[in-house]
Amino acid sequence: MSREIAETAVRFAHENSNSYLDISFFGGEPFLEMDLMFHVIEYAGTWRKTNDINMPLRFFATSNGLLLDDETLKKCRDARILLSLSLDGHGACHDATRPLPDGSGSFDLIAARFPAILNHFPNIQVLSTFSPRNIAHMSEGIEKLYYCGFRYFTIGLNYEEPWDDKSLEIMRREYAALGSFYENRYECEKPVAINIFDSHIAAHVNENCERCACCDKNDGEIAVAPSGNIYPCLRFVKTDEDHTLLLGNVQTGMDRKRRARIMIDAGREWPECATCGYHGRCFHYCGAVNFKVNASFNQPPRILCLQTQCAIGLADDIASRLYNSQNSMFLKRFYS
Ligand code: SF4
Ligand code: SF4
Repeated sequence: MSREIAETAVRFAHENSNSYLDISFFGGEPFLEMDLMFHVIEYAGTWRKTNDINMPLRFFATSNGLLLDDETLKKCRDARILLSLSLDGHGACHDATRPLPDGSGSFDLIAARFPAILNHFPNIQVLSTFSPRNIAHMSEGIEKLYYCGFRYFTIGLNYEEPWDDKSLEIMRREYAALGSFYENRYECEKPVAINIFDSHIAAHVNENCERCACCDKNDGEIAVAPSGNIYPCLRFVKTDEDHTLLLGNVQTGMDRKRRARIMIDAGREWPECATCGYHGRCFHYCGAVNFKVNASFNQPPRILCLQTQCAIGLADDIASRLYNSQNSMFLKRFYS
């Protein structure tokens, strides 16, 4: 992305936001373009000052960690970037889905950076994606990362890969093992945050809790490709060659009617979800995930149903035991 397009995108984002603004740097690996990232942050600060704009603004970035040396981490902290780290478990589990270009694993290189990462970002969010290739080591991987010092985990499954009956059985086993670890951490008063349990417990305690940080909010999300092309969500940008969902360009403007039509389409509920007993606690509305797997904004992948049902069952059992034992950390987290 040229500096000119990046600066235009910053102004465009401000002009098209009502109450607050989050700017996320995404890739690939955004830190391959870290000079541009830090330029955008500096430019936004200067431009806002000149134009007397006070709308709250936050910066986010997700990194694979390979370029996060001490100096870069310090710059990120000083720029108040909310940083997340992609780690698909520990050791060989991570290496199975994140090899280096020469085919060797990347985990050891990133692990060497853990002390610096945790020093600058002690509460960093770890984003872990599992597929049939590494799901068998999920619980062990998350547990090991916890003992490396990480406390906040967002776990997702790769819905696009084929999940046969055997890998589904392994997924259920791994979720149960991870649930035991999660519960044990509360019992030991050293809790861990894991989205697949936290979010379903929170959605039980408070039906109106925020379920998603992107589409779910008023203003919605737009994604800008290096060319300046606008898409409804970062998951649709890819190589910027498929223009089925193209909404315009930051330099020439956005087709608002098209965007509104897509939002309405994406907002329609899949009929089976509307009558499902898990409705209200299931995150089935991510149009990007649905579209990728089923070419429809609304039809959730089968694996999403099975995963959700498994996670809700476990979350309810865990929450009920922790509630009945009046676990103080659990009550404070979810009921205060
Ligand atoms: S479990 Fe499946 S059918 Fe039920 S709400 Fe979720 S995605 Fe829809
Ligand atoms: S489509 Fe999914 S990933 Fe994209 S903004 Fe909406 S909820 Fe988020």
